[in-house]
Parts: sequence; structure tokens; C-alpha cells
Amino acid sequence: MALCCRQLAAQGLIAGRDGNLSVRLGPERVLVTPSGLIKSLLEPGEMVEVDLSGKPQGRGPRKPTSELDLHLRILRHRPDVQAVVHAHPPAATGFAVAGEAIPDNLLPELILVVGPVPLVPFGMPGTPELGDRIVPYIEDRRHHALLLANHGAVTLGRTLDEAWIRMESLEHAARIIAAARAVGEPKPLTAAAVAKLQK
Ligand SMILES: [Zn+2]
Repeated sequence: MALCCRQLAAQGLIAGRDGNLSVRLGPERVLVTPSGLIKSLLEPGEMVEVDLSGKPQGRGPRKPTSELDLHLRILRHRPDVQAVVHAHPPAATGFAVAGEAIPDNLLPELILVVGPVPLVPFGMPGTPELGDRIVPYIEDRRHHALLLANHGAVTLGRTLDEAWIRMESLEHAARIIAAARAVGEPKPLTAAAVAKLQK
């Protein structure tokens, strides 16, 4: 988790104290990043353990991430998910600020690695409103990545690596699509090609 935070910062997917991670440790136990610390400086021993209702387990001095509710809603609704990454990737978040989902018919890698990426309407960060907004989208098990309007992105995985790779791939795809639009008009894949990739 500490390495993932450093990489997210090194790649510009978060800035300063932005972003947070969670990893399921067992049926009722979750490890999350602490609140308020600079992510690129986090040490492994600074992660915070909570149960699925958010109650701190253990006696560390750190408080859990301010987006704890967002992580726990996902982990409670999706037993298939073992890890959640929340970041503010600039190009993907640009789509979310413009009120647009990431087009899912342009790049094979995006279809294969990430899947469809819907845009979740704005919910106030750090409040239950954000969790309320995302629940209808995560109930669809095809969704492993979400854009959060005027905020950022969330990716889910069966491992932390998978959720992390999805965040990187989502941002990479968003950059390519923005570059394609700067050059001209993006040419979509055929419906047959999209169907084959989804299969
Ligand atoms: Zn955020």
C-alpha cells in the first residue's frame, strides 16, 4: 500500500494528501490509508485497520482516511472486490469535470483492463452522500472503475495490484482520448470489435 501511494504520487495521479486505498484483510477486517498525511511519505506501519462498519481495530495513533465510508460501501456491496484505489488522475478527472464518462468504444486496452467507466453524479467528498451516489453503480458487477463528477476516480480489484493497474490504465486511456480529440475526431472501433473485446 505504501509503494502504491508512492507510485500514484510519482505518476501525478494524486497530489499531496489526495487519494486513499483500502485492502480487505479478512471477512470483517480492512486496512486503509491514514487521514491527513502526505501519501508519498507513508510508511507501511502507518496504515489503519478497521472492521467493515468502520470501527478502528488496534491502537495505532492514526485516524482512518476521510473517505472511509466510500471504501467500506464498496467492500460491503462487492464481495468480489479485495482492494479499492481512489485518486485524482488529471486527464480522467478532466472528463469527470466536463460531465462526461470515458468513451468505451475507442481503445482495446481500456475495454480489456478496465471495462465500462460510468460517471457518478457529484457527492460531497468525505460525506455519506458520496457513498450514496456510487452504490447504484457498483451494484453492476461489470463496473471496476468509476469517475466521480468534479472530483476524481475510483478503481476496484481482486488484488491491490489489479485496482492500481486499472487506475493507471484509466488515466492513460483518458490522456490518449484527449490527445486524439486535440488532433481530430476519434474514430470508434466497430461494434463487432467492441463486442469481441468485451467477450
Ligand atoms: Zn478525492
